Amino acid sequence: MTSIVWFRQDLRLADNPALAQAAQQGDVVPVFILDEAEALGASPALGGAGRWWLHHSLKALGDDLGGLVLLRGDPAEQLARVIEAAGATAVYWNRCYEPHGIDRDTKIKAGLTAQGIEATSFKAALLHEPWQLETKTGGPFKVYSPFWRAALTREVEAPLPRPSETKLADCSLGESLEDFDLLPTAPNWAEGWEDLWQPGEAGARDRLEEFLEEGLKGYGTLRNRPDLLNVSRLSPHLHFGEISPRQIWARTRFFEEDRPEVSKDAGKFLSEVGWREFSYHLLYHFPTLPEKNWRPAFDNYPWRESEEDLKAWQRGMTGYPIVDAGMRELWQTGYMHNRVRMVVASFLIKHLRLHWKHGEAWFRDTLLDADLANNSASWQWVAGSGADAAPYFRIFNPMTQGSKFDPDGIYVRRFCPELSKLDNKAIHAPFELTEIELAAAGLKLGRDYPRPIVDHAQARAAALAGYNDVKASS
Ligand code: FAD
Repeated sequence: MTSIVWFRQDLRLADNPALAQAAQQGDVVPVFILDEAEALGASPALGGAGRWWLHHSLKALGDDLGGLVLLRGDPAEQLARVIEAAGATAVYWNRCYEPHGIDRDTKIKAGLTAQGIEATSFKAALLHEPWQLETKTGGPFKVYSPFWRAALTREVEAPLPRPSETKLADCSLGESLEDFDLLPTAPNWAEGWEDLWQPGEAGARDRLEEFLEEGLKGYGTLRNRPDLLNVSRLSPHLHFGEISPRQIWARTRFFEEDRPEVSKDAGKFLSEVGWREFSYHLLYHFPTLPEKNWRPAFDNYPWRESEEDLKAWQRGMTGYPIVDAGMRELWQTGYMHNRVRMVVASFLIKHLRLHWKHGEAWFRDTLLDADLANNSASWQWVAGSGADAAPYFRIFNPMTQGSKFDPDGIYVRRFCPELSKLDNKAIHAPFELTEIELAAAGLKLGRDYPRPIVDHAQARAAALAGYNDVKASS
């Protein structure tokens, strides 16, 4: 028997139920289909940075499998071509939860079944299916804590091993990875990323091991420090499915077994993976999350439009060092630390009063871990318009956030080197210094580093005034 394994966001061999099923039954045609129309559609998930990752991840997967059929176009049509070319009688895949993916897969499954082709999907991207967790009254969760408490009462299945043998069937179809044209050229803004990241299953495994050994201890508090290495940086690996949450769960639980000193940190780490589960739960039950305010009262917020302010934010030129360091970290590395993501998002939404969708779109294009569920849930969380969101009136003070979470200015100095001669206090608020004090650090605002594009106190007051319109309509 010949089966197709349709790889999507599960670019791994271990704990891959679709692959395990196919390998057990006979010959396998592993297929990946790049649907450019989907990437440009209503819910595009693949931005520029994601394309870079996908290229390297597909390369790693193809090498691990010993062959991967790469196709482009409408998945239903492409699968039909492979079925015919390879004489396949079954198609297996692991489930995706993006609304357009659910729609597509439902139609494909019905079409294949009608033709007498077996079509089976599996759970592989989440610990628990979004429909498996319900409140006591039977609906979806809207608050994280009870959601995670309920999740913790369920058993997590053990991850599957990598198939001992995967026999590939002959298939004459497919194009080369280079034909996908996923990498940036003129200019190559991803230069040097190979030194920072190792896309692929082996890279994901190494990343987890390194984090457990070196970053887990103290994670509970140090995870808020962008100047330290106490977060896992597994998010792009998780997004592309190079590692599964089940594998993270099992490995972390095993690691902490004889190390009681990290048990609290391990619980905290897994509860962050739980936030990812919660985002998917929300997206599944509220599929308009990427497009619409989850709390409709926020439709009445008086957003500003300013191309100039948006550009200053995107380029890390707002005059607020922690914000600028974060935006430059994103541009230079394809990643931004979670604490700083919250600060820059709050700055865009509250200090600049630009719609969260501008931020969501920029992150989607520039983050290596850009993920429809996590990104839209997180932007709405910061905006106050989401489920279980931060209250809108809690407005991050960028100076306080900087001093608290980057106390020695190490993070800001790394990404805003022009500020490096300022002392640890001034580095988070250079505009509070006199011209003479700035000159002593070799700085002139407006020349070497921007003056603040908004005044913090005025911006805060304006944001709160805008919020009155939301309150009036809720
Ligand atoms: P760790 O602290 O090591 O956490 C382990 C894993 O748990 C992460 O890889 C991630 O999968 C999950 N996780 C951790 N924190 C969160 C969180 N707050 N919400 C959901 N899942 C979480 N995460 C994405 O994966 N993709 C996005 O597009 C994305 N956009 C975001 C946008 C904004 C405005 C904000 C505030 C957060 C966003 N996040 C997003 C969530 C979070 O910032 C990242 O998951 C985290 O920084 C990834 O780093 P890490 O792997 O080192 O995290």
